Amino acid sequence: MEQFDTIIIGAGAAGLFCAKFAAAKGARVLVVDHAKRPAEKVRISGGGRCNFTNLDAGPDNYLSQNPHFAKSALARYTQWDFIELLAQHGITWHEKTLGQLFCDGKSAAIVEMLLHEARAADLRLSTTVDEVTHDGTEFRVSLSRREVATRHLVIASGGKSIPKMGATGLGYQIAAQFGVPLVETRPGLVPLTFGPQDLDWIVPLAGTALDARVGAGGTSFDEALLFTHRGLSGPAVLQASNYWREGEEIHVDLLPARSAFDALKAARSENGRRQMHTALSLLFPTKLAAALAQKWNLTGNLADQSDAKLHALADLIHSLPLKPTGSEGYRTAEVTLGGVNTDALSSKTMETNSVPGLYFIGEVVDVTGWLGGYNFQWAWASAAACGRAIADRG
Ligand SMILES: Cc1cc2nc3c(=O)[nH]c(=O)nc-3n(C[C@H](O)[C@H](O)[C@H](O)COP(=O)(O)OP(=O)(O)OC[C@H]3O[C@@H](n4cnc5c(N)ncnc54)[C@H](O)[C@@H]3O)c2cc1C
Repeated sequence: MEQFDTIIIGAGAAGLFCAKFAAAKGARVLVVDHAKRPAEKVRISGGGRCNFTNLDAGPDNYLSQNPHFAKSALARYTQWDFIELLAQHGITWHEKTLGQLFCDGKSAAIVEMLLHEARAADLRLSTTVDEVTHDGTEFRVSLSRREVATRHLVIASGGKSIPKMGATGLGYQIAAQFGVPLVETRPGLVPLTFGPQDLDWIVPLAGTALDARVGAGGTSFDEALLFTHRGLSGPAVLQASNYWREGEEIHVDLLPARSAFDALKAARSENGRRQMHTALSLLFPTKLAAALAQKWNLTGNLADQSDAKLHALADLIHSLPLKPTGSEGYRTAEVTLGGVNTDALSSKTMETNSVPGLYFIGEVVDVTGWLGGYNFQWAWASAAACGRAIADRG
């Protein structure tokens, strides 16, 4: 039987990055993946330019049942460390918005960099993991019907998002097999869907976008909102989806940067003969203005509206309550919320407390970042914490 010091399941962002550290001192490291190509999510991310980290990445940008868990790993491998690594590989980048860093060229450069950094490890693609067992001292992993053994087993198999790209629930199954507790999983950074009553006015607006503030579960985000054929998407909605729970409303401020009352009052003073939908088109794209005027039954012209009526309209504009019926699910979700319960892991090494030698890193863990490079930063940081600890143990 082939013997390794470390076996890593999953050749994605976290798995490959962990291999770099775990193999640094000459240990025998094997990385296996059932996909034909490594790090596919890195390749397609950020529209092909990979939003690889965020200048502002810190523990406050993550959701977890234990919000303190990610602190240690994020502090020990920071966005600046990753930026320094890119510089060593001559990969240039730019800030798009809100601290989000993207490659100037293609994200394939990052995949190449990860493979180069992990070159001391043995990489086996198109390899299925049939079974994992533990005999008290070491793990046996049955790979495409060939058994291999190791003292350190790292699970970096990601979440459930986008099954078409190779996502499976393997990490959660292995956790369950070894009695490692899980936090319930749900799709994150996902478009929200609506019932027929809302779709009546939303669908004709498909493709329309505007800057908005979208709030759910007590947290709100100021970014773009996009109307779709199924409901709402765009960065502000994806961000809010992480905080939204089935049955709850989201609140949309359609004009976060200005006072709608002041703007409408000024428009009334300037020209009171404007129809209401024309008045709204001073604030919104024309199609949206017409849809809102119809939805809110706004008739007559601006001069007909008392201050009280304008206040009531401004309230609707600034806090439009909407009740999603669901989300587009794992089919389009960028991440999976929940996962391996961090109470079961060491925040320094990512090793499970109950099964020495078993580690979980990356998205499979109950640590989920906001949109904007935070999820890759968690993959790099958790992988570095784990890989360094393994290398130190020898
Ligand atoms: C469309 C899209 C765009 C994204 N864009 C960004 C972005 O720009 N910035 C950002 O920070 N985050 C982004 N994300 C999120 C980011 O891709 C993930 O958080 C990150 O890839 C998680 O890394 P990971 O290594 O834990 O998991 P993954 O990268 O998903 O890697 C897991 C690996 O395990 C393998 N695997 C799964 N099951 C098995 C099995 N049964 N047997 C063997 N191997 C298995 C998979 O094939 C995969 O290679 C995006 C996600 C999506 C879906």
